[in-house]
Amino acid sequence: MPFIFKPEMTSPKQQKKLEEATRRRDEIFSQHPEVAKLDQEIKKKEFTLRGANFHGLNKEERNKLQGEIKDLKVKFQKLLSEKGIPEDFKEPRWDCSRCQDRGEVLTSRGFIRCSCNQERDLSLIRKQAGLPPRYAKSSFATANLDLYPTREANGKESPKVKAKKAFKIAQEFSHSQLKEANQQGLLVDGPVGSGKTFLLSCIANELLAHGKAVRYISYSDFLFLVRLSFAPDSPYSEYQLIRDIEQAPILIVDDLGTEQATDFSSSLLYRIIDHRYGRQLPFVISTSCSLNELARRLGYLGEKIMQRIIESCRICSLKGDIRQKIIAKERGKNG
Ligand SMILES: [Zn+2]
Repeated sequence: MPFIFKPEMTSPKQQKKLEEATRRRDEIFSQHPEVAKLDQEIKKKEFTLRGANFHGLNKEERNKLQGEIKDLKVKFQKLLSEKGIPEDFKEPRWDCSRCQDRGEVLTSRGFIRCSCNQERDLSLIRKQAGLPPRYAKSSFATANLDLYPTREANGKESPKVKAKKAFKIAQEFSHSQLKEANQQGLLVDGPVGSGKTFLLSCIANELLAHGKAVRYISYSDFLFLVRLSFAPDSPYSEYQLIRDIEQAPILIVDDLGTEQATDFSSSLLYRIIDHRYGRQLPFVISTSCSLNELARRLGYLGEKIMQRIIESCRICSLKGDIRQKIIAKERGKNG
């Protein structure tokens, strides 16, 4: 039986799908009048059966009618298969069979958002948060720490041991943010290719999936936008760009220190970090530099910026270059 909607309950998307199904049905009926005739016959008998009490049918007559309907349905299916018409030709083609594109499903707790809607929402939220699309699926559950080398050098921890610790700390950070806002932040250092962006994306996705507002930036891209905003015809306003970053409940800054700071970028970063520090708004930062090098690269306010960062962040490190392994794995997956 097709699902019957009350007209006021259908969304525009559902309405479109229902109309499309009606058009498809009418087309088949006009191409195959015998299908339409049989369909009509079944409907008429079903209508009579539904109103059996009203029509004063006794049990015997009812059973007879039920038998006739059953036979007609068998005939109908046979006819459809002869004509190569799919059995569900009258049904709307829903994208989500669970909610029939309504976006919500009726449960014992009332209407709740369907999982398809949550996924749609989440991809929009990820986009708004600034998370690179490449990392949309990064999660602690999919992290493959076996990609990190296990060999230890000079008695130091192996990259894999370091990665295990870093991912654990990152997970603890996410959990603490979910429990209570305004906790300690996180600084992740490690060379290019050691999986810092992936780790940051795991944090972002975990928080976003739980409804936390996150803002993800690469600092050099952010500076680029700020510089663009100086142009008279810029669609961005410097004030809005900076305010957005200063006030984000959780700020994730990827790749800090890639370029030597100018006086302008140094004072801008200090302003942002100091604003967030004062309001106990956490930030997660990644860098390819050592802490000393980072202080130097952050320009004339570098020492002060680092002081704030170290005071408000837990520090963890990644080692090793796993890019080649990831690329090889992706190639394998794509055939
Ligand atoms: Zn759905």
